[in-house]
Amino acid sequence: MKRLTTYFLPLNLKQCSILISILLGLCLANTSVAASKIKVDSIIYGDYLVTMTGSEPYIENGAVAVQGKDILAVGTQQEIDSAYRSKNRISGKQRILMPGLVNGHTHSSMTLFRGMADDLKLMDWLTNYIFPMEGQFVTPEFIRVGTELACYEMIKGGTTTFVDMYFYPNTIADVVERCGLRAVIASPSIDFPSPGFKGWDDSFAAAEKFVDERRGKHERVTPAFAPHAPYTVAPEHLAQVVASAKAFDAPISMHVAEAPSEIEIIKERYNTSPVKHIAKLGMLDETLIAAHMVHPTVEEIQMMAGKTVGAIHNPTSNLKLAAGISPVVAMLEAGVLVGLGTDGAASNNDLDLWEEMRLAALLHKNRESDPTVIPAMTALTMATRGGAAAIGLGEQIGQLKPGMRADMIQLDIGRPSLSPLYNVISHLVYAVDSSDVVSTMVSGQLLMKDRKVLTLDHDQVKKAADQKGKEIAAALSRRQQNP
Ligand SMILES: [Zn+2]
Repeated sequence: MKRLTTYFLPLNLKQCSILISILLGLCLANTSVAASKIKVDSIIYGDYLVTMTGSEPYIENGAVAVQGKDILAVGTQQEIDSAYRSKNRISGKQRILMPGLVNGHTHSSMTLFRGMADDLKLMDWLTNYIFPMEGQFVTPEFIRVGTELACYEMIKGGTTTFVDMYFYPNTIADVVERCGLRAVIASPSIDFPSPGFKGWDDSFAAAEKFVDERRGKHERVTPAFAPHAPYTVAPEHLAQVVASAKAFDAPISMHVAEAPSEIEIIKERYNTSPVKHIAKLGMLDETLIAAHMVHPTVEEIQMMAGKTVGAIHNPTSNLKLAAGISPVVAMLEAGVLVGLGTDGAASNNDLDLWEEMRLAALLHKNRESDPTVIPAMTALTMATRGGAAAIGLGEQIGQLKPGMRADMIQLDIGRPSLSPLYNVISHLVYAVDSSDVVSTMVSGQLLMKDRKVLTLDHDQVKKAADQKGKEIAAALSRRQQNP
């Protein structure tokens, strides 16, 4: 004010009025430029913008304009700023901006069994630890606590979509709707007694009810069927699943060709192999999210190519349970959709997709004795665009481009552990870890900002999980004292 007064004082009245008109004109001009820009809900920036659209690997000084749940525009900061305006602008200084990660296979509330029993043979692990503890502890309350724990970890680590198959799917869906993540939630059915069910008939009836009631209800929740595996569900029951999946237009999530023991059982019972077995039942003509796919034959790989069948590679779980190594390179070459998964935290022991990405890139170089296979961009694709296609959501997520859902994350590249930076894609696969993620957005809603999760309470999540852990530990030690 003082400055203006000083400036105006030597001027006469006429000069003053001319100056005021000029200033007013400038103001009006600025207002009309602002008015000509399209107002959007938020603009998110990144020093490096990785779109995963298959064109350029990244845009330097990029930005994404978000309107409602969707991406309205993607471009350089200059392009976006000259066409759009928003009160919510999220800085991209020292940040990589990219699509959120897609976890194609997990059992989220098994986070509560994290580290409970390791280094055991599959059957010992299952029958002496997992099954008894599931039988004793799995209730809707357990599922709520475990799913919240899992969702907290996923939001922190930059996973924006996951495929879940576990008990009480309605409880899982409620948590997902509340915490803001996106999920394909598959209702489990199996021929044996399981938490809440006597066997196939009641577990499958519940799955049909779940899919029917939840379909089309919430844009972030896709209900699905989850017959456990070809060796735990009879062929006539799998045929029922195919018919219902077709009728409800719902995906199927199932463990397929996971371990050598499964191959033996299917050979013995049906004189065929798992993928051929389910193909005969029409399952490959549905949207099938086939977890593990460690042991398909060459012929079976060809059968899956070009179909809406996604093979979900879970390298950590397969290594930990010594299930074998999936022929990922052959599947990708044949044109099979391949995504990545963590499996449950009981066999991983976390939900960190950055680890799965890196492991996939490294494991197959060794398997094929060829360091050129699964280059960084291929590993990153499996965790984003490829993973989205593998779970049937390729039209909505996995890439940053107009019309896609606004599911994206920012990573901090200001840390010494990521310096120097020659190649953004290389860092994302070989150097970054989940603690580098600073913001997470799903459907245009910020779930984490500046490393703080906004939709779940850190202390509450941790306290409830630790309490459940104490109860499980006490029950385990009672079992060990009185086997
Ligand atoms: Zn699994």
